[in-house]
Amino acid sequence: MKFDVIVVGGGFAGLYMLHRARGLGLAARVFEAGSGVGGTWYWNRYPGARCDVESLEYSYQFDERLQQEWRWSERFAAQPEILRYADHVADRFGLRSDIQLNARVAAAHFDESARCWTVRSADGQAATARYLVMATGCLSVPNRPALPGLERYAGAVYHTGAWPHDKVDFRGLRVGVIGTGSSAVQSIPLIAAEAKELHVFQRTATYSVPAHNGPLDSAYEARVKADYAGFRARNSQMPNAFGSNLPRNESSALAATPAERQRAFEARWRHGGLFLLGAFGDLILDAQANETAAEFVRDKIRATVRDPALAERLLPRQRIGCKRLCLDSGYYETFNRDNVELVDLNDAPLEGATPQGLRAGGRDYALDAIVFATGFDAMTGALARIDIRGRGGRALREAWAGGPRSYLGLAVAGFPNLFTITGPGSPSVLTNMLVSIEQHVNWIAECIAQLNARGHATIEALPQAQDAWVAHVNAVAERTVYPLCNSWYLGANVPGKPRVFMPLLGFPAYAKKCEEVATAGYEGFALA
Ligand SMILES: Cc1cc2nc3c(=O)[nH]c(=O)nc-3n(C[C@H](O)[C@H](O)[C@H](O)COP(=O)(O)OP(=O)(O)OC[C@H]3O[C@@H](n4cnc5c(N)ncnc54)[C@H](O)[C@@H]3O)c2cc1C
Repeated sequence: MKFDVIVVGGGFAGLYMLHRARGLGLAARVFEAGSGVGGTWYWNRYPGARCDVESLEYSYQFDERLQQEWRWSERFAAQPEILRYADHVADRFGLRSDIQLNARVAAAHFDESARCWTVRSADGQAATARYLVMATGCLSVPNRPALPGLERYAGAVYHTGAWPHDKVDFRGLRVGVIGTGSSAVQSIPLIAAEAKELHVFQRTATYSVPAHNGPLDSAYEARVKADYAGFRARNSQMPNAFGSNLPRNESSALAATPAERQRAFEARWRHGGLFLLGAFGDLILDAQANETAAEFVRDKIRATVRDPALAERLLPRQRIGCKRLCLDSGYYETFNRDNVELVDLNDAPLEGATPQGLRAGGRDYALDAIVFATGFDAMTGALARIDIRGRGGRALREAWAGGPRSYLGLAVAGFPNLFTITGPGSPSVLTNMLVSIEQHVNWIAECIAQLNARGHATIEALPQAQDAWVAHVNAVAERTVYPLCNSWYLGANVPGKPRVFMPLLGFPAYAKKCEEVATAGYEGFALA
């Protein structure tokens, strides 16, 4: 099989890439490991899974009729609705005929003489294409820490990122959830409401802000839809590419009085959503400013959790925001329930699984089900699992052994005609990802169109441009609190992963840079 473009991944990135490639008259094929489209929203079916960027923003903007006609039922849509949306997009734009499901790509090798990529699936099928676009997702490889004895555990084992398609019934069961990141925060209130007992195994306490989710306000929806393009344009000027309704306050938290700070934080807390850190301009830049927001949330936890000793254990101590901020519907409140127990792994380290459950701090917890809410091998995990080889047969894994190196998060030196959508070194997971995805797909589509129009066969990032870009991404991160804690942004959740801050802060400047690069005839790239 021969194509102009092969796209790996059938999530939001892969779907839109296919649509654009077809629009250019190219023969394109998507290979998707799952048996359906939707990516994140196909795999993450755990109770409570929903977006934490508002649905009116967490949706495509490339088609005005689509964004006008699609109706979201809630402010923050739940997984089934987002999956329906992905399916709707696949049907509406007739994409399915060029999507091969149940096709996990195992290898992709660049042939230097033919100047094309050969892609092999895990079941041995091969296909070639001039361009290879990796739409493999930043959060698509579940991270399951090695737990000694798990193979002997007799109960059910789940991972939030690979949840069964049929409803899991926790009624009457004793359940253990390992982890307290975003998926745990979303699922714990619902599992607690259903299970007989819930034991939450916490290594690092988490900061979460209330979603105040509810039915989408139709008057608000009408206002947005009256000028959707303007709304999108304003959001694209926000550092995280969403939330222009609640503009950031650029002044310093330290210049405000305690009462002013309280008012500013409180207003955002009441509004709901991930806006707390926009209350002041220096909350993620300055450790002392950051601490004012951190303490505000700790006070909220103290006020919510009735048992002061328990509240104390739920208080996060790291900088707020340097691990991904969570959005919840009743997370801290859940710990007031009689059937919920917090197991603080700092006092009682997790020793492993037993045939009956988990053992921590010398105590056995009898469990009917264990839920790993332990996140993902983020940003590089999916790429590292494919044997990608560029010039001279060099493996991407080898090129990235010390951490990912990329130009603009879009291309890698030594790997011609390979593009990574929301790759490391781009704003990706620090933004509304639908915006970042569309920006990348548009850039890649335009790039391919230009190459074809000018008769070029290859494009390749120059090593010096890549080095300068990596240095820039690091320098931006160094000005923030992000490198100060052990987050998945840094690969710290996966043993042995190099500690490198992978995403780039600041969408507007980034998007401008991409545009300038293209306008300057693909500055920093070699075209041949
Ligand atoms: C629970 C959860 C909630 C989230 N909420 C938000 C939110 O509110 N706002 C936000 O901006 N972002 C959110 N995200 C991030 C989310 O991943 C992105 O918004 C978006 O869905 C990513 O789309 P994608 O197409 O780039 O990747 P994905 O949706 O991850 O799709 C990648 C696809 O590639 C496939 N794939 C990977 N490797 C291979 C291979 N070797 N061969 C074949 N196929 C392969 C995978 O099976 C997957 O289907 C959330 C993520 C999670 C996990």
